[in-house]
Amino acid sequence: KTFEDLGLDARLIRALLKKKIEKPTPIQEHAIPHILEGKDVVARAKTGSGKTLAYLLPLLQKLFTSNVDRKKLSPNVFVLVPTTELCQQICVEVKSLLELCRVQLKVVQLNSKMLATDLQAALVGPPDVLISTPACVAKCLSNSILLPSSINDSLETLVLDEADLLLSYGYENDIKALTPHIPRSCQCLLMSATLSADVDKLKNLILHNAVVLTL
Ligand code: AMP
Repeated sequence: KTFEDLGLDARLIRALLKKKIEKPTPIQEHAIPHILEGKDVVARAKTGSGKTLAYLLPLLQKLFTSNVDRKKLSPNVFVLVPTTELCQQICVEVKSLLELCRVQLKVVQLNSKMLATDLQAALVGPPDVLISTPACVAKCLSNSILLPSSINDSLETLVLDEADLLLSYGYENDIKALTPHIPRSCQCLLMSATLSADVDKLKNLILHNAVVLTL
């Protein structure tokens, strides 16, 4: 299959071609149509499988089409990752795709070294895409830098990337601090190299009727 076959926006396909990415990987082929349809998806996918683009491409496409008349109160897409390095990598990837597509969206990354004032500054004029470790989001919630009501009003998509590592690095309680504020309408995606019992518990806590892809 091609990216066209998966229903991907022409701008994104052109951007991928400029990156010499011509053909979807198996995880992209299977995940992208479900994500575009709005389903919750769990994917067992290792680093190197193309898992990042498997969720970024459909999520950016949804932001392209929904950005016109949304009342923006808080980030629309949260991507939670286990490390600051991964946070940085994803941020670079999103910004480069947006630049190639000539679409302007606000992309913000938070990291644990940021002071409360920096976190506050980063979140002024709410981002469209927020990439963070769970600890940073939990800190922003406990400092009222992020208001639960704003998350509840406008969070459209939550991605738990490398969910197995999110758990083994001890972020479970930080994720649980966010969980009660996730609106029922929020689309949730979980990527994990392994689907352990603990990852399954996280899935059951956050996702609804998820499509499970174990390629
Ligand atoms: P990931 O599994 O998300 O860590 O991606 C691993 C690498 O594969 C990244 O450098 C991507 O740019 C690259 N990549 C992602 N999708 C494709 C694709 N469909 N074809 C070729 N390379 C890809």
